[in-house]
Amino acid sequence: MGQQTKYLLDESDLPTHWYNIVADLPEPPPPVLHPGTHEPVGPEDLAPLFPGGLIAQEVATERDIEIPEPVREVYRLWRPSPLYRAHRLEKALGTPAHIYYKYEGVSPAGSHKPNTSVPQAYYNAIEGVRRLTTETGAGQWGSALAFACSLFELSCEVWQVRASYEQKPYRRSMIETFGATVHPSPSPLTKAGRAILEADPDSPGSLGIAISEAVEIAAADPETRYALGSVLNHVLLHQTVIGLEARKQMELAGESPDLIVGCTGGGSNFAGLAFPFLGDKLAGRGAPEIRAVEPSSCPSLTRGTYAYDYGDTAGMTPLMKMHPLGHDFVPDPIHAGGLRYHAMSPLLSHIYDLGLIEARAREQRDCFAAGVQFARNEGIVPAPEPTHALAECVDEARRCAETGEEKVILTALCGHGHFDMAAYDRYLSEDLIDRPYPQERIDAALERLPKVDV
Ligand SMILES: *Cc1c(COP(=O)(O)O)cnc(C)c1O
Repeated sequence: MGQQTKYLLDESDLPTHWYNIVADLPEPPPPVLHPGTHEPVGPEDLAPLFPGGLIAQEVATERDIEIPEPVREVYRLWRPSPLYRAHRLEKALGTPAHIYYKYEGVSPAGSHKPNTSVPQAYYNAIEGVRRLTTETGAGQWGSALAFACSLFELSCEVWQVRASYEQKPYRRSMIETFGATVHPSPSPLTKAGRAILEADPDSPGSLGIAISEAVEIAAADPETRYALGSVLNHVLLHQTVIGLEARKQMELAGESPDLIVGCTGGGSNFAGLAFPFLGDKLAGRGAPEIRAVEPSSCPSLTRGTYAYDYGDTAGMTPLMKMHPLGHDFVPDPIHAGGLRYHAMSPLLSHIYDLGLIEARAREQRDCFAAGVQFARNEGIVPAPEPTHALAECVDEARRCAETGEEKVILTALCGHGHFDMAAYDRYLSEDLIDRPYPQERIDAALERLPKVDV
């Protein structure tokens, strides 16, 4: 028998519970604060935006949270997802390192996002909600939520960041194919959108602005709730199916990871892969290094301060302690669209602050180079976001080639890049530049953080 490439699980191995890392942390995360009073928010403050089932998960402290059977039924359309050993990439790099990747591109939206859109739609539907609103940057989350809403008979309205609405028309078509409505953001449909358009009629938009618009519409209608595709605790919780499966698959491979690497936008795919392994590490089982990789052009973990900020541009969401670049951050038009949020998951920021994970920032051309090398050896064209993690894997594997170390590296290949070929086009025609984020802009944005005494 030749060397094994794919590690597959049976449907019966699909996790029955999500893993809540809060139960195992040495210190609980700081409280979420009301935007007006700066007092800790209670479940009732979140009720206009989220259903009770998700609010309960947002504040949950128990370790294992059952996955409802109707959600598992939908998960079975593509889960358990495959784990691969990248033998050909290892060979091309001449490295003794072992590189494994957990592939989430097999989902209906082509990324990890349906792992959370499905339970989010489910909990809203069973509580009688009729419509969900949301934002989308690259279009991945919009298509994942549109898919989930179509299964649970919810209507769905998506505010898509204008720059991406114009650059990625087929993501919009996909969202519409699943039955949702798409508005370019900023839009004239909301107060938040109109304010931005008055100041700058050509605004390319940002995730923070699109969130303000979706939140405004949801808060005004009792039959409508809002859904967020990353950042929040319940989203990270749902994504732990990735790491729970990967842990079993690494056992099948007879190895345990020395290094776990993932890309971070809001932190959900990285947390989803890493948290079950981090939980083991905190319990004294294994000691992998765990490393988040973000774009140099949106360096929230590596260069943002750990501080309270709003989750949206208009300042309507609660204040969360995270690693913000300022809630009025408008990113340069980089191509890893899913990594352009102005902040980072508060839970992941807390874990970073506790020193339990590391973070690095990378330039986009390096990332595309790794993406192309990966595609030519492994046959999958990665989404631009996970190429950040791949670039880190490639560098690490090259270091191992020098030292002879047989390091076991595990990464999340969180999506395919089939809707991102315009970005690859620009890379291949050498029309892509690196855009490190200027320090003046970081300093200026931190000046405008809300003043919170805690
Ligand atoms: C949304 C998205 C991301 C960024 O979000 P995280 O919450 O950090 O995972 C990364 N990669 C892909 C493919 C995405 O769709």
